This record gives sequence, structure tokens and C-alpha cells, in this order.
Amino acid sequence: MSQAISDSIRAAMRPSAAALEPYDPAFTPSRINLSANENTYGMPDDVRAKVNEALCAVSANRYPQPLSDELRAELAAWHGVAPSQVIVGNGGDELLFNLFLAFGGQGHVLANVPPTFTVYRLYAELVETQVVDVPRDSDTFAIDVDALVEAARTASLVIVTSPNNPTGDLFSVEDARRLCQACPGVVLLDEAYMEFAHEGSSAAPLLGEFENLAVLHTLSKAFCLAGARIGYLLCSPSISGALAAVRQPYSVNVYSQAAALAAVRGRASFEPTIQKIREERERLAQGLGQLASRGVRVWPSEANFLLVRVPDAARVRRRLRDEFSILVRDFSSAPGLEGCLRITVGTPEENDAVLDALSTLVGEER
Ligand code: PMP
Repeated sequence: MSQAISDSIRAAMRPSAAALEPYDPAFTPSRINLSANENTYGMPDDVRAKVNEALCAVSANRYPQPLSDELRAELAAWHGVAPSQVIVGNGGDELLFNLFLAFGGQGHVLANVPPTFTVYRLYAELVETQVVDVPRDSDTFAIDVDALVEAARTASLVIVTSPNNPTGDLFSVEDARRLCQACPGVVLLDEAYMEFAHEGSSAAPLLGEFENLAVLHTLSKAFCLAGARIGYLLCSPSISGALAAVRQPYSVNVYSQAAALAAVRGRASFEPTIQKIREERERLAQGLGQLASRGVRVWPSEANFLLVRVPDAARVRRRLRDEFSILVRDFSSAPGLEGCLRITVGTPEENDAVLDALSTLVGEER
């Protein structure tokens, strides 16, 4: 995906931008795409009908509501907060970017907990934010919470992903409380995958206690709207005010607002699929666990994906794609994730295809 930049154009770039490696999901069209943690079951029929109806009623001759007022009110009612505590973005990605515009920059510090979602570091570096890494345990990926709390004491922004991408583990609500108490800046819990975790795992109930807490959610995963690009942050009115100040005025278009409103109103219809994905996650994990004697390791996950270490992962990923037309995410050369692939939990048929293919490929002579 990355394109060459000529020397003269590079010389005109802001140095922090010139130094960046673009985010590249390495997407190749495939029969089975389990590489981006989308909901591969698709939207329930009743919600799809409502979304289509809503889209047909949209006129795009006027600009959208800048703060997605109707959607914001619906999200606020759902989560039991005031509308001023919700800010909607063009995907969670936009909100992450805006957090760095508002709270990053020279003289500001991000406390980061790798291995995690790489976009945080990308945005931090772009706006010249110092990154303090508090690495996870190299075997279990457990967070050293005491070390993180220490790092948080001088951070303008702390980001913890729960469940974490790509390791799948949760950060406890009690530990989130400790971070909010210690950090003079903003504590972001990125809960993009929280709908797949067990009840009571979200840090959102702490919002009433801490002005510096923000919780990120997205409609891209459980709610089948990755292509519409809708994310939202639950936070204090102060944080949403800070983000409203830096955001692009009309970043969330009228079609996406309408589709999201219909999906959020129909949210109960997604429950059976979410439950099915949880069950399939356990079945896929068990199936992969049966390949342990061939060097396969799978970590427990509360998300809609599994992190799996396989011998010769880059080759396995390539052969999955080229011979089976199955796309998974390759982390095999990422620091701390050597030999790892991330596999989205798909439909039963997709998961069977993965298990069959891996049992053929893993441990096979080259
Ligand atoms: N946070 C995490 C941890 C993610 O994995 C993703 C999607 N890959 C996002 C945020 C952003 O999601 P979106 O922009 O689609 O809302």
C-alpha cells in the first residue's frame, strides 16, 4: 500500500510525518477474510431493513449535524450518561487522532502498553508526543500495573486497550480506577471489542467518578458498521469539549449518522450473533489447542479474535492466503509478537476452514 515519496516532496514534509511508516493492514481480497476483526456474520435482517430505510430517507444537500445530535442522544440514553458526555467520530480512529491533537504534542507524554494497537504510537509520533512504553510480560502479556500507575503520574495521556488488540486480555475496572487516580492527564480505555467480553468488564461505570476518564467504543466490530466509520467516546463534558475544539466540523457524514442511529436503535438484535461469536471463539481456541503438540499456542481472549503462535508464521500466513484464500493478520515480525498471527473469529464454516487449513499447514515439511 505504501507509495514512494520523492526526496523533494519529503524535504517539504513535517519531519515527524516524513519519519512515519504508514499503517498498512496488508489487505488482499480473499474468500475468507479474518484479518480485521469485523463481524463476519453481517447485520441481522431486521436491522439491515431499518438501516436501508433510514439511508433512503437521507438528503445530502445539507451538511450533517456537526456533533451527530440524534445519534449522540441515542448513545447517551443507552449508556446512561448525558449527551454532553458523548462525542461521535469518523471511526474510533478519528477520535484517537483527535485525542492526540488535544492532549499530545511537544512536552506531552503518552504512557503506552505494548504490544497493543499500533495506531497510538503512530499518532503520538506524528504530533511529536513522547512515548513511554510500559511493556507487557513477554510470555503472558500481563500488564505490570504498578509500573503503569507510576508512568501514569507524569503522563498527559494513558491508553489501555481492553480487551487488548491483539492479545485479547482485559484490564480490570479496579486497575482502571488506580490509573485515573494517579494520572494528571486523560486515561483512555479503548474498549473497541468490549461487547465480546463478559458482563461487568467495562470501565464505563467509573465515568461518574473521574473527569479524566474516556472510554472508546466503535460500531465497527460487534455492530457490523466498519464501512460506515462510526466510533464514539464516553467521557466527561470537559473531555468532549476539548475534542470538539480540535475536530473537523463535518467529519461524520449524513449517511453514516443515519445508518448508525438505526443500528443503535436495533442493538438488541445483535445479541444472538455476539453470543455465537463468543461460543465460536471458545470452539476455535479449543481446535487450535489441539495443535499444541505441533508447536501452536493460543492465548485466552475476551475479544472477537485469537492471538496464535505457530511455527514459521509468515510462511503459514502466506500459504493460508495463497492456497486456501484465507486472510489472517500477520504479526510475526512485530516486536513482542514474534511468530504470531491474529485470527478473527468468523462463522462456524469460516472457523472450520481455518482449523482444516492450519492442521494441514502447521508442522508440515516445507
Ligand atoms: N481501537 C482498537 C483497539 C482497534 O482495534 C480499532 C480497529 N482496528 C479501533 C480502535 C478503531 O476502530 P474504528 O476506527 O473502525 O472505529
